[in-house]
Amino acid sequence: MKTELKVVKFGGSSLADAEHFRRAAEIIRSDPARRYVVPSAPGKRSSGDEKVTDLLYACYDAASHGENINLRFEHIANRFRGIIEDLGLTISLEDDFETMRRAFMHKAGRDYAASRGEYLNGRIMSAYLGYDFIDAADVIFFKDDGTFDSERTNDVLGQKLKEHERAVIPGFYGSMPNDTLKTFSRGGSDITGSIVARACECDLYENWTDVSGFMMADPRIVKDPLPIDVVTYRELRELSYMGAGVLHEESIFPVRFAGIPINIKNTNDPSAKGTMILPEAPADRSVITGIAGKKGFSVITVDKDLMNTEVGFGRRMLSVLEREKINFEHLPSGIDTMSVIVATSVLEGRRERIMDEMCDLLNPDSIQIDDNMALIAVVGRGMKKAPGTAARVFKAVGSVGVNIRMIDQGSSELNIILGIEEKDFEKAMNAIYSEFVRDNSK
Ligand code: ADP
Ligand code: ASP
Ligand code: MG
Repeated sequence: MKTELKVVKFGGSSLADAEHFRRAAEIIRSDPARRYVVPSAPGKRSSGDEKVTDLLYACYDAASHGENINLRFEHIANRFRGIIEDLGLTISLEDDFETMRRAFMHKAGRDYAASRGEYLNGRIMSAYLGYDFIDAADVIFFKDDGTFDSERTNDVLGQKLKEHERAVIPGFYGSMPNDTLKTFSRGGSDITGSIVARACECDLYENWTDVSGFMMADPRIVKDPLPIDVVTYRELRELSYMGAGVLHEESIFPVRFAGIPINIKNTNDPSAKGTMILPEAPADRSVITGIAGKKGFSVITVDKDLMNTEVGFGRRMLSVLEREKINFEHLPSGIDTMSVIVATSVLEGRRERIMDEMCDLLNPDSIQIDDNMALIAVVGRGMKKAPGTAARVFKAVGSVGVNIRMIDQGSSELNIILGIEEKDFEKAMNAIYSEFVRDNSK
């Protein structure tokens, strides 16, 4: 019989200091199947603290502006020195610090700088556990265009892991074809964990964090939300894309190939069963699986009489965004009006140009951009079998006086997306949660 194999990823909050390292090591050692470990950089030790990754970015930016970085750099090095000392380890990272400091001065790149948090934490973790260290730079690859090279990575990493019974592989970064380092987007150690899980064909990918799994809503917005026991890959992607920050939204892609389940677990409460993320799952009793949302969206609205008779209108409108390399979130439209919803951040410095180009190409009656929109996704595989779900969402939001600016229901009936004013965000999230969860459990 094949022995069980697990990949375990520990987030920054789970490796913020020596005490957390001890907890993580205890978890790893308590199950011999936990053979491959993917650590993040040290996170916040308390609410006022800073994440090492943020400190690294700030330090690198200061160096790029020609500032003296000695103080900033020492502050970062001391975070690692503190962990090494408190764990009673004999390793020294002083040579690495010196290499880093010089690389910062020689503008080795922001990604290089950020990657050092994971690299150094990985070195400490490998020394503490007595596991081999595999540098992600040697096994995780990006292509020239900056996208992740999944096949080359899977080949090289898969082979490498066979040579190591137990190993630590730092999260978040890999290398470009020209050997410079590149990181995934923020929170990307979750993706590394998933890549390692695929490469070694493990039975389970455990993602250890500071909450006992996915909650039905962000606990910072809804008080004491219920935990989600089981969520499917597709539901998870909808929820994490829309702001449920527990797991990076791209984490499911590598494991999806092999159908490997992900278990979100709490380092501070290891016996809690957490959330299982599975390829498929039957709908359970509840209509919705979770709610997530994000602020910071804008709507570009174009009006033109008889728009419906103009062939290619939509394509021309989107071609402006394509030229600007802007991706859009939603495309609600009426007979003589078309809107595109985009993240407000992507419009920075380009509003006038986009408006001008759309005017030239579309000759509209009017065109305007409205900011301050929040999107909320109500997600659930159970919706298909539950008529009236949309009506319940609207009733809940309407009953607290919140106006809906946009509605989009995916044809897969897995989600309903609402666009509302940012100022109504918290109120709407709580109203929807109450409608489907609180009031139902009474
Ligand atoms: P890590 O450092 O382990 O990578 P993250 O900070 O990236 O952890 O993710 C965990 C955090 O995600 C939680 O502490 C919580 O504040 C936040 N979060 C957002 N939405 C949810 C949700 N629906 N369920 C649980 N936690 C959530
Ligand atoms: N340390 C990186 C970040 O803060 C990656 C991660 O935590 O997953 O974004
Ligand atoms: Mg994270």
